[in-house]
Amino acid sequence: MKICTKCILPETFPGVKFDENGVCSHCRDFKGIEALNEQKKEYEQKFLDIVEQARDRGSYDCMIAYSGGKDSTYTLKVLKERYNLRILAFTIDNGFISERAFRNMCSVCENLGVDHLVFRPRFDLMKNIFLKASENDIYSKKTLERASTICTSCIGIVKFVTLKTALEKNVPLIAYGWSPGQAPVNSSVMKVNPQLIRATQSVTQGPLSKLVGNDVNAYFLTDEHFAMTERFPYNVHPLAFLDYNEDRIKEEIGQIGWEEPVDTDSNSTNCLLNAYANDVHIKRFGFHPYVWEIANMVRTGVMGREEGYDKIYGEQPGGLLDEAHRRLGIKG
Ligand SMILES: [Zn+2]
Repeated sequence: MKICTKCILPETFPGVKFDENGVCSHCRDFKGIEALNEQKKEYEQKFLDIVEQARDRGSYDCMIAYSGGKDSTYTLKVLKERYNLRILAFTIDNGFISERAFRNMCSVCENLGVDHLVFRPRFDLMKNIFLKASENDIYSKKTLERASTICTSCIGIVKFVTLKTALEKNVPLIAYGWSPGQAPVNSSVMKVNPQLIRATQSVTQGPLSKLVGNDVNAYFLTDEHFAMTERFPYNVHPLAFLDYNEDRIKEEIGQIGWEEPVDTDSNSTNCLLNAYANDVHIKRFGFHPYVWEIANMVRTGVMGREEGYDKIYGEQPGGLLDEAHRRLGIKG
């Protein structure tokens, strides 16, 4: 299989083209690290401005969608220690959070002095979503270039449950720990509004309710939420403009009690379903659902090519698929 000699995109990735040197079209289109750094500075300033607006308005300045993984843990640490925000860490337990990740969340929140709220959607419904999402293409091609159907379904629920909770609690800022490869700088500080959310919500809610029924509507905004127009928060994902280095991040969060899980795959530090979701996606589409994210990080110099290559094409720890199959009730 042909793989880009600069990043790690494979020839099986939709729409990718290679030149005579084996460099992919995404790498040729990249405007360079200097332009990116300029953009990062601009967005960091925007972020600083809205942090000041968010301060001391309600009980919390900021909510963070907290998975217990390394990226959201680091984001939480920075928001607390560097910007001194009053934070509510908010976790959606999809039924597949690694035990170590759970312990990590508890230690980190305790050590940082942060309130922590865990919401656990009923497992029968989540299981049904994951099973049906592994057999049906319910999202656009573009979406599936960036994440598996299972991941997209789960993250969709996380985003809308988090937003409706922020609206109910009147929290002006929602932070996510998206890696710099996952989400671009130009979306890292964004005010959301009812119109935008109605449109994006229907893209997830519509297919999911068709797949598993209307019970899933409990995880989405209702007209009551949409009427709270004054409360619609800013979404931020600070890792897009902060310095990002995986080893340094792990070292820093190690100091507040985070320990690396040994039971997750190379692209997750919290979720035991991820290996299964990746496996389904690779078999279905012929490319790894994390390759776009990791290729972005390699291209922009955030991650070494060898390290990125290993994450996508390297051997995964054994037993992860069996465990996911068992918990989902898949035989065989
Ligand atoms: Zn490339």
